[in-house]
Amino acid sequence: MPATILDGTKIASDIRAEVAAEVKALSAAGLRPGLAVVLAGHNAASEIYVRGKVKACEEVGIYSEKHTPPESANTSELLALIDSLNHRDNIDGILVQLPLPAQVDAKQVLMAVDPAKDVDGFHPINVGFLSTQRPGLVPCTPAGVMEILKRSHIPIAGQEAVVVGRSDIVGKPVAMLLTNANATVTICHSKTRDLPGVCRRADILVAAIGRAGMITLDFVRPGATVIDVGMNKVTDPKEFVRLFGKKTTGGKTQVANAKREEIFRTKGSTLVGDVHPEVEEVAGAITPVPGGVGPLTIAMLMFNTVKAAKIRRGVVSSQLSGVRSQ
Ligand code: NAP
Repeated sequence: MPATILDGTKIASDIRAEVAAEVKALSAAGLRPGLAVVLAGHNAASEIYVRGKVKACEEVGIYSEKHTPPESANTSELLALIDSLNHRDNIDGILVQLPLPAQVDAKQVLMAVDPAKDVDGFHPINVGFLSTQRPGLVPCTPAGVMEILKRSHIPIAGQEAVVVGRSDIVGKPVAMLLTNANATVTICHSKTRDLPGVCRRADILVAAIGRAGMITLDFVRPGATVIDVGMNKVTDPKEFVRLFGKKTTGGKTQVANAKREEIFRTKGSTLVGDVHPEVEEVAGAITPVPGGVGPLTIAMLMFNTVKAAKIRRGVVSSQLSGVRSQ
């Protein structure tokens, strides 16, 4: 039986609607949440991401402003900007879009963000809060993974969870959130022995690797829930056939997914996850790419901005589902 598709677009849209309702209530009380985005220099992908974040703010009613220091900006200029944003009462969240220009000490700039306004959840203070189960700001993509699981009623407590990837922004915080939710968690990486065998133990398998379609059928226990965090642009026609091709009896390769093929033909690329599409045949539930984890990231950024506003401004009541690490 094919897997249940976990619709990240729908879940993200529900979260955005909840955030918008909360922003409305906070604004009526004179506490409109505000987000400042820092976009230094010129990076085409970063400009697209930032545009999406600013648009999302507009849609849910969060005040936003964009700061665009030039490509030549140095560390002390960015530190001065962060310091001024840290002191602004109408700014609840500060997001520094990475990468920063090469001459800037990115770690120093990120460390300078007030942890109470660190809506990316990357500051070591927030990492510490997450690991010690204290209220704090949780990285957006990992928080989104948890929202997908919880809102899809996937059991977590007592389940075997395997996370492939140990990055600070995805793998480690996902593993921590799953641990806090009482899963039994294994973290895998490029040095893990018998990766398929370890992954096959999983009731919940999270792939955050950055390798198109690496998780194939032999990594997945039938019925497991598979969360695909990967976002990989495939441009090579042979790779496209490896992912979406289907052998016919005559040995001739045909593409199984006509919609994908159309996108690939017109755009010259397609976005794929770390999980091979064939896994849909055995998984119990799976997130698609696109339309799975991706949409949750911006939704959780909006959620975090409102959460930061409530914590910093001393508002306790919340209609939101709450940051699940607590
Ligand atoms: P990353 O920092 O490059 O980390 C990749 C992790 O995968 C590392 O821990 C690495 O192991 C592990 N890995 C690489 N090759 C492996 C292999 N052959 N076998 C086992 N483990 C392997 O990547 P990231 O920032 O965590 O991102 C992971 C993916 O998620 C990327 O596709 C990225 O685009 C995507 N992503 C999506 C969103 C979203 O909004 N949906 C947000 C963030 C990231 P080592 O530690 O041993 O090197």
